[in-house]
Amino acid sequence: MTDTSADLVILGGGSGGYACAFRAAELGLSVILVERDKLGGTCLHRGCIPTKALLHAAEVADAAREGDKFGVKSSLEGIDMAGVNSYKDGVVAGLYKGVQGLFKAHKITVVEGAGTFVAPNAVDVGGQRYTGNTVVLATGSYAKSLPGLELGGRIITSDQALNLDFVPEKVVVLGGGVIGVEFASVWHSFGAEVTIVEALPRLVPAEDEWASKQLERAFRKRGIAFKTGSRFSGATQTETGVTVTIESGEQFDADLLLVAVGRGPNTADVGYAEAGIAMDRGFVLTDDRLRTNLPGVYAVGDIVPGLQLAHRGFQQGIFVAEDIAGRNPRVIDEMGIPRVTYCSPEVASVGLTEAAAKEKYGSATTYTYSLAGNGKSQILKTAGGVKLVKAPDGPVVGLTLVGERVGELIGEAQLIYNWEAFPEDVAPLIHAHPTQTEALGEAFLALAGKPLHVHG
Ligand SMILES: Cc1cc2nc3c(=O)[nH]c(=O)nc-3n(C[C@H](O)[C@H](O)[C@H](O)COP(=O)(O)OP(=O)(O)OC[C@H]3O[C@@H](n4cnc5c(N)ncnc54)[C@H](O)[C@@H]3O)c2cc1C
Repeated sequence: MTDTSADLVILGGGSGGYACAFRAAELGLSVILVERDKLGGTCLHRGCIPTKALLHAAEVADAAREGDKFGVKSSLEGIDMAGVNSYKDGVVAGLYKGVQGLFKAHKITVVEGAGTFVAPNAVDVGGQRYTGNTVVLATGSYAKSLPGLELGGRIITSDQALNLDFVPEKVVVLGGGVIGVEFASVWHSFGAEVTIVEALPRLVPAEDEWASKQLERAFRKRGIAFKTGSRFSGATQTETGVTVTIESGEQFDADLLLVAVGRGPNTADVGYAEAGIAMDRGFVLTDDRLRTNLPGVYAVGDIVPGLQLAHRGFQQGIFVAEDIAGRNPRVIDEMGIPRVTYCSPEVASVGLTEAAAKEKYGSATTYTYSLAGNGKSQILKTAGGVKLVKAPDGPVVGLTLVGERVGELIGEAQLIYNWEAFPEDVAPLIHAHPTQTEALGEAFLALAGKPLHVHG
């Protein structure tokens, strides 16, 4: 017989919900978690993991195609989507098994079904009420569309794009944010002709302007077309294709239109509004300790306004579990959450952009180190760079990196930001040669006034 009451009831088993469940169980709390689909949520089944598997397959395709650059005789014979999907699905399946095992190991009661939040201490699933001293809302997000743009057929979101059994010849990607540029990158590497349409003036518009310029230059070089500052005005589809029109009147014919215009919170039809949860445009409002307006009710993950990232959800879940257990955890600094866009080349950042730092501090010092001076990046034949933003008389408050594989460097960058390091703190620390981490080291040496491999 399944328990119907526990210390904690969690609605949603994605990154935010399951991290909260695991940490609460470690702290000795009993947990009931309600999930209507698969444990692991968007990130594992429809987000981070399958997209990064596709991006890795894309990297392998590029390596095969570009062997000549390195004196290796190789060529790309083609993309076998069945093979790509089986590799991707295999990765997801392995991790899914792992997550399920962790639920068992933590002795968490999992209730399968769609839950409704019915009272500050209760969730209903199919007429059965589950009660807890605390309830955590973690219902995640869904791919949005634009008004008047109906999804279906050749007009798809990332959910369908992840499971295509063919490589489209031509694709239009609506939205030049993270998800849009990642899919554009994959499809281009697989041989498709790709055009990105973005309403804002630049690709990855949430990043430092410098990063957008670097990425745009790289995409131009790769042959990925993009129309920035271009608003979508309509799309029509037939049996054989889709035609996308932008406000200038220009039209693009394609096999598919990927709509990547952001993700909305899954908060309708789950009882939140009816129970009196304070919300803004569908997002659940919380204080900085992730408490909603109802006593004993917390919210974590994509339904809380802010960065929609899996590791933010993990940390928020851990935070809430520790808060409930009386551990008084430190409030999470949103700006200290690293952000990585895994297209080719990658964009990785933490902290403030130059513009945001200038707005906050009145002025800011910046330093940009080009990967042209970094041995390992030259071996990899990647362009890009590292940009540091420093507060006046203060620590480094922003780091942005562009280049192949720089996502892996964000670990050091986030330590520097979160420890509020000054250039003088980092400059004496030694980076192994030849690695791409040296680019960070060189930038810090330069900002501390002792540049090494820098001209002029
Ligand atoms: C294409 C794509 C790529 C991404 N890539 C990355 C990346 O590389 N790195 C990164 O950090 N983030 C990435 N993300 C974002 C990441 O997936 C999300 O930030 C993360 O999954 C949010 O976790 P969550 O727990 O808030 O919600 P979710 O993971 O969405 O989980 C919510 C869960 O709640 C369940 N649920 C909803 N309503 C109910 C209900 N009424 N009853 C029961 N269960 C319910 C859902 O079935 C779901 O399992 C990506 C997202 C997408 C779409």
